[in-house]
Amino acid sequence: MAVVAGCFAVAIAAGWTPLAERIDHDAYDVMMRLEPVENGTPQSVVVAIDEPTLRERGGMRRVRTILSEALDKLAAVKPAAVALDVLLPDKGDDVEDARLEASLRATRNLILPCEIVGGKWEDPLPRFRDLAAGLGHAQQGRDRSDLVSREIPIEETADGKRRWALSLEAFRVVRGEAIVESPDDLQAGNVLIPAARRAGSRSMFIRYLPAGTPQVSVLEIERNAAALRGKTIFLGVTALSAAHDRLLNPYRQDVSGVAVHAHAFETLARGRFLTPASDLTVVSLCLLFAAAAGLTFRLLSGWSAYLLGVLLLVAALGLPLEFFRNGVVFPFFAPVAVAWLTTAGAASFQHFFVRRQLRRSESEKSRYQQAIHWVAHEMRTPLTAIQGSSEIMTRYSLPEQKQHELSAIINSESKRLARMIQTFLDVERLGEGEMEMKREPFAAAQVVDACLKRAGPLADRKKILLSLDTTVDGTLIGDRELMEYAFYNLLTNAVKYSSSETEVHVTAVLRGGELRLSVHDQGIGMDEKELKNIFKKFYRTKRAEASGEAGTGIGLSIVEQIVTHHGGRMEVTSELRKGSCFTMVLRAKVGAPSSNAETVDRRG
Ligand code: ADP
Repeated sequence: MAVVAGCFAVAIAAGWTPLAERIDHDAYDVMMRLEPVENGTPQSVVVAIDEPTLRERGGMRRVRTILSEALDKLAAVKPAAVALDVLLPDKGDDVEDARLEASLRATRNLILPCEIVGGKWEDPLPRFRDLAAGLGHAQQGRDRSDLVSREIPIEETADGKRRWALSLEAFRVVRGEAIVESPDDLQAGNVLIPAARRAGSRSMFIRYLPAGTPQVSVLEIERNAAALRGKTIFLGVTALSAAHDRLLNPYRQDVSGVAVHAHAFETLARGRFLTPASDLTVVSLCLLFAAAAGLTFRLLSGWSAYLLGVLLLVAALGLPLEFFRNGVVFPFFAPVAVAWLTTAGAASFQHFFVRRQLRRSESEKSRYQQAIHWVAHEMRTPLTAIQGSSEIMTRYSLPEQKQHELSAIINSESKRLARMIQTFLDVERLGEGEMEMKREPFAAAQVVDACLKRAGPLADRKKILLSLDTTVDGTLIGDRELMEYAFYNLLTNAVKYSSSETEVHVTAVLRGGELRLSVHDQGIGMDEKELKNIFKKFYRTKRAEASGEAGTGIGLSIVEQIVTHHGGRMEVTSELRKGSCFTMVLRAKVGAPSSNAETVDRRG
């Protein structure tokens, strides 16, 4: 859950980066190419002041005269409206201006351009402006990152005055309808333009006509009279040498500023708008992807999970196109990044974490099986003794003393069995933290004595001298039986891993509240690497295995658990072929224990 949430957050955050923006733009362009709008019959024509016009009519210096000539010729072909994309803010040559004024006056449905300069509207000269049926801004929307024109600001405000875009103004004039505005859209007659106001401006995606809008040179107006009649004319400069507003459209075609207005006009005229998806929709769908990725890897595993993950990615890739088909511009990067990252995150989490858990539970299982093995193995000796003794008793009629001896063996061995089972269970539960360990004071000397006595016969068999050179002082607090088990283990190990006719030596030092109980042997010893592992369950050194004495490798792990549960620690030193010294370092009090048992304490 946390992994998926983290990946989701990273993906959404990455969605704000410039790279994501570029990818979204590129995806938008690809979708526009995949889903182009039909060219149909365009309602507008660009009348271009192109390279030949400028060449023949004396260049941009004479632009007002060129405009007059164009307007006069256009008046004759009766267009629906003429929108000018040449700014006329300054006074020019008197004769030229007078001629232009006359031409403008003669133009029906004239729309003039304006522009924001230094935060203020720069309008045409009043003598021109007063002749216009509409005033529209010629601001271009281009993405700063790649100079591709995708949207235009359909409404701009400066200096407290709001202006529609040149294309919308032309549309309004041609349709003869007022524009009704609401925060979410604009309505011109029966056309609803989805352009919500954001930060004092509204923008509209331009649905570029794939084949471009028709274009006629100023020099060719008369020859194309039929094509111009009844159309909305966008009259502007297209000559590369003069136009400063050349852009690319999403088809990556070169497009002049005046043509952008014509395309925007076509978008309005066709009423096939693109709206940006709301932030809420984007975030909800991304959340859905993240949840689906999380659930997939939560509920499934293996190929089915990966397959579903891949399907999720495909869905994320296809989603923006599906939205685009329905007129909604959905970001591309965010859902894909969310689907990718959350799927990858959930998959790796499953792979590494869940697998690890599986491995752990498997090793737990095998550990348990080995433990059962150990009990079975350890039980064999007392069971054989009981079996043997009882068989002898039933098969032969024995003298009474012998019978006593045998039943004493049966009794003591069955008690040993019971103790063993108890110890095993206690130790298992101790490890799991479920056990209530006894907390009573007992003399350390008692433990040492009892163990030395029990280990005596083992040492004798190998002619090993088992010795204790000091008196053992101090009182320990805890579980005497467990402590005996631990110390006995150290003694038997020392005997097991020593060759015959060596010595096993026990020392006890009580100092500063600590009792150091050590078992020194002159046995096979261990190297450093082995020393690091001996307290692990079921670890046995190769050397011990070769000696034929090695047991199950569980003893020392139990010893360590018992000692730590008593608040102590184990210390081991060893030298190969020279011997080892195992020391239990335990908290102890000076003197003999008082007779009162301390409270029983829950430990875990
Ligand atoms: P085991 O039943 O095999 O003795 P332990 O847990 O008691 O299991 O000991 C683990 C391993 O540590 C042994 O197999 C042996 O390799 C090594 N080891 C323990 N005690 C000694 C010792 N006194 N000298 C050398 N090696 C020892």
